[in-house]
Amino acid sequence: MAWTPRTAEILRAVAAYQLAQEALAGEFSARWAEALAAVEAREVAGSLTELETAYAAAVRESAAASYALSIAFYRLVRALETGRVIGGPGYRPGASLGSLWADFNKATGKRTGSGPYTPLPVDTRNPFPAEDLKREAERVAETFRREVADRVAKYERERAGRGSAALDDAELIAREKEFLESLKTGGSGAGGMLVQDGGRDMIHNALQDDPGAIGYYRATDASPCYFCALMAGRGAVYKSKRTAAFGAHPHCHCQAVPIFSRRYQLPAENTQFARMWKRFGGGSLADWRTYYSMTTKT
Ligand SMILES: [Zn+2]
Repeated sequence: MAWTPRTAEILRAVAAYQLAQEALAGEFSARWAEALAAVEAREVAGSLTELETAYAAAVRESAAASYALSIAFYRLVRALETGRVIGGPGYRPGASLGSLWADFNKATGKRTGSGPYTPLPVDTRNPFPAEDLKREAERVAETFRREVADRVAKYERERAGRGSAALDDAELIAREKEFLESLKTGGSGAGGMLVQDGGRDMIHNALQDDPGAIGYYRATDASPCYFCALMAGRGAVYKSKRTAAFGAHPHCHCQAVPIFSRRYQLPAENTQFARMWKRFGGGSLADWRTYYSMTTKT
């Protein structure tokens, strides 16, 4: 008998997944802010090694959680859409909609759904790539250099350049505050991207290796930027030999949602962005940006 995709449940899982990924980025940002709060502006240069260690550890911990969460999500959506379980990390014999919901609920820390404990047929394949810790460490180092170390070097150069021509207290305090704020915002936006990529890239790659997957779409956060709204409005991206990169950016909480059946349904937001694009009537990306910001303001 043909399986009927459990659309309402899938959309609930998608919403819970997006929020859980966003929360992981938020946890990372909080840890980074805490590490920064422990040093004075003038001490940052001397504490770069410690800060980088803290930064890398915080990314790793949250990215690992994102990876595990995303596998639970992928397996759940696949089962809800096709009635079949896929193997790989976290797979347990006798898996059912009940056990997959339980795994997902545990990963998100919220009870979003439940299901019957009737074992489902299994596809034993493991499409999930292992975590690429080396690549992640390289990206973390690169990100830290760009968002933190380079800013610190510039700040120190300016400080040395001023020499004894001291700023008055108010100016100095304002400048220090601005400097620390830039480390916090820059570091957390780019680091939060690495955190969510732990799961996001994994899903994007798993699709390619799963004959049951036909593509993905973009699930946005509550207030996506014009670029992400445009991508989400385009709907499904069917996979091909060269499926383009997902294209996340710092401070972006969009997620890749795998699709396993032509009978998938997009979240209401995606349909809304598609309508908005239609009303816009086409034009340059810059024009769309203006149109989008005017339409979404208020
Ligand atoms: Zn986005």
